[in-house]
Amino acid sequence: MDFIYADAASTTPVSDAVINEMIPYFNENFGNPSSVHTLGVIAKEAIDKSRQKIANILGCNSDELIFTSGATESNNTALAMGKKHIITSAIEHHAILNTLKNKDVKVTYLPVYSNGIVRPIDLINAITPETDLVSIMTVNNEIGTINPIEEIGRICKQKGILFHTDATQYIGHTNKKLPLGVIDMFSFSGHKFGAPKGIGGLYVKNGININPFIYGGQQEKGLRAGTENVPYIVGMAKALELSDVFDARQIKELREELLLIPGARLNGDPVNRCSNIINISFDGVRGEMLAYFLNQYGIAVSTGSACTSESDEPSHVLKAIGLSDDMANSSIRFSFTKDITKNQIEYIIKTVTNAVNLMRSDS
Ligand code: PMP
Repeated sequence: MDFIYADAASTTPVSDAVINEMIPYFNENFGNPSSVHTLGVIAKEAIDKSRQKIANILGCNSDELIFTSGATESNNTALAMGKKHIITSAIEHHAILNTLKNKDVKVTYLPVYSNGIVRPIDLINAITPETDLVSIMTVNNEIGTINPIEEIGRICKQKGILFHTDATQYIGHTNKKLPLGVIDMFSFSGHKFGAPKGIGGLYVKNGININPFIYGGQQEKGLRAGTENVPYIVGMAKALELSDVFDARQIKELREELLLIPGARLNGDPVNRCSNIINISFDGVRGEMLAYFLNQYGIAVSTGSACTSESDEPSHVLKAIGLSDDMANSSIRFSFTKDITKNQIEYIIKTVTNAVNLMRSDS
């Protein structure tokens, strides 16, 4: 039986169609987009076309997109706009939280309660005359919950405060556009939707002057210096074009069946969520051991976010929704690409059910 990939929130494979689109820009069209000769012009045109393609899909102007190495860099760049007081949430990715830890600004972390969602009223109450940036993620990478981004953005707009959202787990997973009327900046990363790792972007609304995060040449309007990664930019545009809406029905059965296991509990709001991420705690079972067992049976899953998997600390997201250390450490995350099949889902249900029963009888 083939390996079953249930870890799509950490990264996704690159399809042949995307690879084939990229190949000419590694060899025959290898030019530097800043060069004046024909090879340079071809590379520059490829970037322009890709930027336009991505802008059309995301619903923005092409000159509002800056290509970066991924969401970590985009988040770092956006957060540099907060000089005095930044409001964020307790369940952001470490690319936000650890960046803030290293900045000399006041930070307020909004709670998320048991459903894993920020409440706009808490934002209103946290705003002070010093608040100059709000950064709240669109979709949480560990539990898949969706924040009320439009409402949050509206509050920021009314108060004249910059609003950034880390949309890494949103872009490429839905054809619903972000409410750009109330968003000033958003981050995304290509490898979450079928592009290679190491390419992403930051949307910056026209009229907002961000500071360069990387200084050097005049690439990306002087805002992100360094020779552009032409093949990856072309690949990201193709991947976004091919990315498809995840059909929730595909995994409805998986979620329902796994929750029938005694002591199983879904983490995060059951309704306001991105359906391709399912995080479940299995009472009395170590998440790590379960993930290890499933790996032996050909199923790749994650315990919490890939970035926290290496740490012994319980996930900050699961703690923020009120789980005890024990419950947080008994959780695993399933996340899917649209290619998951019915047979694979049935195999996952059977294997997880057996594994949980076996581990409980062992303890
Ligand atoms: N933000 C979120 C919500 C993410 O899920 C990730 C990737 N796990 C990142 C930021 C960082 O993305 P990258 O590693 O591609 O920079």
